[in-house]
Amino acid sequence: MLAPWSYPRPMKIHEYQARDLLSSYNIPVPAGRMITSVEDATSAFKQVTQGQHKPFAVVKAQVHAGGRGKAGFVKLVRTPEEATEAARFMLSNRMKSPQTPPEGLEVKRLLIAAAVDIADRPAQGNATPAKEEFYLAITTDRATRRNVLIASREGGVEIETIAHQRPDAIIKERLHPLLGLQPFQAREVAARLGLSGKLANQAADVMLKLSKLYIDKDCALAEINPLVIALDAAPSGGVGVPPASASVLAIDAKFNFDENGLIRHKDIAQLADPSEENPAEQRASKFGLTYIALDGNIGCLVNGAGLAMATMDVINLHGVTPANFLDVGGGATEEAVTEAFSIILSDKHVKGVLVNIFGGIMNCETIAKGIVNAATNYKNPDGSIGFKVPLVVRLEGTNVQAGRQLLENSKPKLPTLQTATDLTDAAKKVCSAVGK
Ligand code: GDP
Ligand code: MN
Repeated sequence: MLAPWSYPRPMKIHEYQARDLLSSYNIPVPAGRMITSVEDATSAFKQVTQGQHKPFAVVKAQVHAGGRGKAGFVKLVRTPEEATEAARFMLSNRMKSPQTPPEGLEVKRLLIAAAVDIADRPAQGNATPAKEEFYLAITTDRATRRNVLIASREGGVEIETIAHQRPDAIIKERLHPLLGLQPFQAREVAARLGLSGKLANQAADVMLKLSKLYIDKDCALAEINPLVIALDAAPSGGVGVPPASASVLAIDAKFNFDENGLIRHKDIAQLADPSEENPAEQRASKFGLTYIALDGNIGCLVNGAGLAMATMDVINLHGVTPANFLDVGGGATEEAVTEAFSIILSDKHVKGVLVNIFGGIMNCETIAKGIVNAATNYKNPDGSIGFKVPLVVRLEGTNVQAGRQLLENSKPKLPTLQTATDLTDAAKKVCSAVGK
């Protein structure tokens, strides 16, 4: 049986949890507190700004998506009243960014953190003045099959654009598989980021700690963006010269964890926030099914990851794209198959369903029973019963005759059902059924 964990689906955590994790590795982060209600904004503001040179804070939406700054969900506040107002706005509006679904995400948690006075970057020519914001991340580079440290002087909110338009602004340093990031590499990267002296040492130290964290916790991504040069006091050394008390600080972080590693990291596993997960994916995992949401309009029910990929390729070739795929694995019961159908159909983008099963361990008759059950009992949004969208089924393998017979016998009850002889035939039928 193909286990659901064969799919690399990283577990994500919130920024406030990521900051705690950085702290536990002695990577410096500003004071912060997570709140879930507007009423707590005042006390959180006072708590995190206590003893600050400038008692300012940032209110930040905690959702499993980035691009918050540009969406207005990272807000600098100067008083408890401003903090309360920002909290009210964020907790009552959905956050929309290029990284969220079009309808946005509900914000249920906020981080109120001490604001940081970021040093100005010395102006170069007539370029627009910038702040000292850097990008740092560790991830796995599939091409070189090594973990890699990625760093850039152009950190902040535009890193994806920079990576596309100016790849030379991105530094990559491969990690040795056994030794990990070496101190000399970290120092070299710090120098290439334009840092020197104490700040270079601090940045190199952050890189080494981040790479240790990455390995220790079986991360898939450990990212700090931005790592900033923070000013503690008014600059004393003239324009563009950071004061003696300047230091590096991580003010935003993102972690993805390899789900396969969670079994040995109970501390990480318990950070999961199920309310941030795709509800259909959660429903599927309860039945031991794997559901992956995509953005086309054909729902695909398959068994096995390889067959899922092949199915998507073939329907793409015929001009339609998958809305999702649901892998029932090898040992699915009739109930699970019934559930699988209703999950696929809960996606309102689905205009047609393609079932492509190659029964090795999976019994085709079980699939057929599940299909007939689900399709005949399916409750449409308008209340009527019975499957309305085109349904194309291709069955092959164990007990296929019984499965096909059952489908044949059920055709009078299932007017939208067509059977297919092979995958190409199935792809053609589902394409023409949805008008492609
Ligand atoms: P993201 O947009 O979701 O990545 O959220 P970030 O936490 O990275 O914030 C986006 C941008 O807001 C950062 O790149 C900074 O330019 C700015 N920002 C965030 N926190 C602070 C802060 O404490 N002080 C200052 N001056 N700027 C901040
Ligand atoms: Mn960020």
